[in-house]
Amino acid sequence: MSDLKGKVSLVTGGTGGIGAAICLRLADSGAKVATNYRNEEKAKKWQNEVKKGGYDINIYQADVSDFDACVNLVKMIESELGPIDILVNNAGITKDGSFRKMSQEQWNDVIKINLDSLFNVTKQIVDGMSERGWGRIINISSINGQKGQLGQTNYSAAKAGMHGFTMALAQEVARKGITVNTVSPGYIATEMVMAVPEDIRNKIIASIPVGRLGKVEEIAALVDFLASDEAAFATGADFSMNGGQHMM
Ligand code: NDP
Repeated sequence: MSDLKGKVSLVTGGTGGIGAAICLRLADSGAKVATNYRNEEKAKKWQNEVKKGGYDINIYQADVSDFDACVNLVKMIESELGPIDILVNNAGITKDGSFRKMSQEQWNDVIKINLDSLFNVTKQIVDGMSERGWGRIINISSINGQKGQLGQTNYSAAKAGMHGFTMALAQEVARKGITVNTVSPGYIATEMVMAVPEDIRNKIIASIPVGRLGKVEEIAALVDFLASDEAAFATGADFSMNGGQHMM
């Protein structure tokens, strides 16, 4: 665990697989944790479940592809928990299809939610971090943004774009005590990946040198480190965690 006592964090899309593990890990390290969601029923159920384990996570309804909703989201969190020190841009979706069959809607939705969201959310938070002289921004990208993946021109473009954002912003805010990094997970054993038919999943696993899927807790541990004071010299970097499936 890191020492994040007194820090306020926002993990977007924290009621899903990887985001939920990140929320719990940051809370274990002592941070106050907020997350946002679209699906209220799912989010409330999740909040109640984690409460039984002693976790008090603040949840807010806000669509990260909607700029005004993000303005309100950050205002609400800052009035209830205090200024945000740690931002994890985790919310993301896929809408796969071969490029020749891909609709404009599939393209736009994936770009808006995975990439435009970085502007919408980070924009509300970076000035305060700069004034206070400390901040951590961690963007959850994907192995498929690094190597490309057939059927995912939209997702690969958005995820590669996230790292461009990371590198540019990291340079702009480096002197303000703010680090900006990308985490690029490989195949992680979330509900989405476990729903893939077993024979296809086994083929995926066979292509991973470590011989298994990743665990959400492994991604969360890396994010926890990047959020800490100890990670102050890491910025503008893309941290792969993919079992050796893609080596850069
Ligand atoms: P999940 O589908 O389990 O969770 C995604 C979360 O994002 C959900 O909580 C969802 O909330 C939220 N979300 C989606 N769209 C929006 C939106 N417009 N506004 C607000 N919240 C939104 O996904 P994972 O946990 O698997 O993925 C998390 C991140 O990790 C994503 O960015 C994904 O691309 C990336 N990733 C995942 C990998 C994997 O193997 N699972 C591999 C590599 C990267 P709600 O349900 O309420 O809409």
